[in-house]
Amino acid sequence: MHCPACNQAMLILEYKGIELDHCQGCGGVWLDAGELGLLLHGVPEAPEGLALAGARPGARRCPRCPRKMDVGRFPASTVEVDVCPARHGLWLDRGELLTLAGERAGGPAADAVVRHLRELFGEEQNQTKEKKT
Ligand SMILES: [Zn+2]
Ligand SMILES: [Zn+2]
Repeated sequence: MHCPACNQAMLILEYKGIELDHCQGCGGVWLDAGELGLLLHGVPEAPEGLALAGARPGARRCPRCPRKMDVGRFPASTVEVDVCPARHGLWLDRGELLTLAGERAGGPAADAVVRHLRELFGEEQNQTKEKKT
């Protein structure tokens, strides 16, 4: 599978049986539908869990289908994500997965994920975009 941002072939990183597609070129991560919930809470989120507030058409294409992804934010999130309109999954730029995990933390599972992601992606992931309003 190729990165929707820079078109490099992505690597699969496995975490507790969840396959994250990671681009070494730009540091982004693709999550298939359900994987964000699995990652943070141990249960897949419902398809409507990928609904974005104020979504607008984006320029990047879903790596799973030819459609262009929508750009927007999850409710109560500061992170702008790309989501396939056919709900194949979502794309997170470098650092955004950590930010999202931090926002949705509040349980030991999410805390463990944040720690693991820090180790996995190294210091680069600390350069998260501060977009707090
Ligand atoms: Zn990339
Ligand atoms: Zn798609």
